[in-house]
Amino acid sequence: MHGTFTDNDLSHVIDADKAHVWHHLVQHKPFESSDPRIIVEGKGMRVWDQNGKEWLDAVSGAVWTVNVGYGRESICKAVYDQMMKMCYFAQAAGSVPGALYAEKLIEKMPGMSRVYYCNSGSEANEKAFKMVRQIAHKKYGGKKTKILYRDRDYHGSTLAAMSAGGQDERNAQYGPFAPDFVRVPHCMEYRKHELGLEHLSGEAFGIAAANLIEEVILREGPDTVGALCLEPVTAGGGVIEAPEGYWPRVQEICKQYDVLLHIDEVVCGIGRTGTHWFGYQHYGIKPDFVTMAKGVASGYAAIACMVATEEVFDLFKDDPSDKMNYFRDISTFGGCTAGPAAALENMRIIEDENLLENCTAMGARMMSNLQALQEKHAVIGDVRGKGLFLGVELVSDRDSKEPVDETLAQKVVAECGNHGVIIGVTNRSVPGRNNTLCFSPALIATADDIDQITDAVDKALTTVFG
Ligand code: PMP
Repeated sequence: MHGTFTDNDLSHVIDADKAHVWHHLVQHKPFESSDPRIIVEGKGMRVWDQNGKEWLDAVSGAVWTVNVGYGRESICKAVYDQMMKMCYFAQAAGSVPGALYAEKLIEKMPGMSRVYYCNSGSEANEKAFKMVRQIAHKKYGGKKTKILYRDRDYHGSTLAAMSAGGQDERNAQYGPFAPDFVRVPHCMEYRKHELGLEHLSGEAFGIAAANLIEEVILREGPDTVGALCLEPVTAGGGVIEAPEGYWPRVQEICKQYDVLLHIDEVVCGIGRTGTHWFGYQHYGIKPDFVTMAKGVASGYAAIACMVATEEVFDLFKDDPSDKMNYFRDISTFGGCTAGPAAALENMRIIEDENLLENCTAMGARMMSNLQALQEKHAVIGDVRGKGLFLGVELVSDRDSKEPVDETLAQKVVAECGNHGVIIGVTNRSVPGRNNTLCFSPALIATADDIDQITDAVDKALTTVFG
């Protein structure tokens, strides 16, 4: 192994973990007869587990987070220096890295203006939802409180974020949810038959899928709808890029019905989709709110941002004599300076190492490798995504598009593990039908890394499906 872990340390850590840690998103019964995986060390694209086994991480910390890779000394140094100088003060006051990061971030987001710091993607989304509700009360006499969200999109694990959750597997058993969150249909061309739009394709399909949002607005009453919250490329719902024509029509609809557009960049933000800093920037849209988290500091510190336009900000400062006229919200750890200090250095690395360009180039390579696998393996129904953010949907029959049994998709993930590569599987929309392999390697990936990942997938598919 890379580090200096003795057998004694190791068995203690495993015992402590098994006795006391409640892991996220996994069932614990299997740990009665096997050990959980404990990741001990990471460098670049690779991590080492408790047994010294080396893994190529094709999902950036399992949930598309570590965009600049592991073991970045300069980020650790920036955080250390900032911690020694000034670790924390509530964000009612300002901080040096908070101001400098906000300035840098807004430079990358023409049209946006104000950064609200908090800790997680869920929390950033909650901030935007609260602002929409407050605007409804301030500007529309308590109307326009409804927030639309899309089937298959995910916006977080807190209860209001789950109320905006389009993934039924995640939501099951956690209701009742908050009122006035209303679901709109997905825009996934591969499964357009679910929308009754199988006769349309390309741009015509994209426009028709966006019109389904308009139908919901008209059904609910435009004077009741305050905002529409969308992922630029749906992540956990199956790595879904909207078709041509979708986004311009979405923008038009929001404008026509005075609906604020909230773009959730928690996964796509900070370069994940290549070329641009944010997913929405590929489509020329102008959001009112943009939320981001994971890649902001690549997991070196917990930081999330809710970014709003100056027009939104202005709504909260128009009457200083009104004691209720500001955003009455706080996030204690939004005042941690480790976050913006790490984020500033994270951004410098992405710029200096041309990682947006690398992401585009390596994303294209990975897409073409996966498309070649689609020619070879009948089980691959669809390959999709943008930049280094790709999905491979597995189906038992290409005509019916019936998802493969989830246990088979999980076997592919396990087989990739046998070849030393960590990949993910998702979908989350239908409980028990997770059939989409997902890939989000760090933006530093090389051609060799990409080929190693897709070779492992090739071998795994052969082992599982023949
Ligand atoms: N939005 C999206 C699109 C996400 O994928 C996630 C997390 N996977 C979240 C929000 C929630 O982020 P967090 O887990 O940091 O609360």
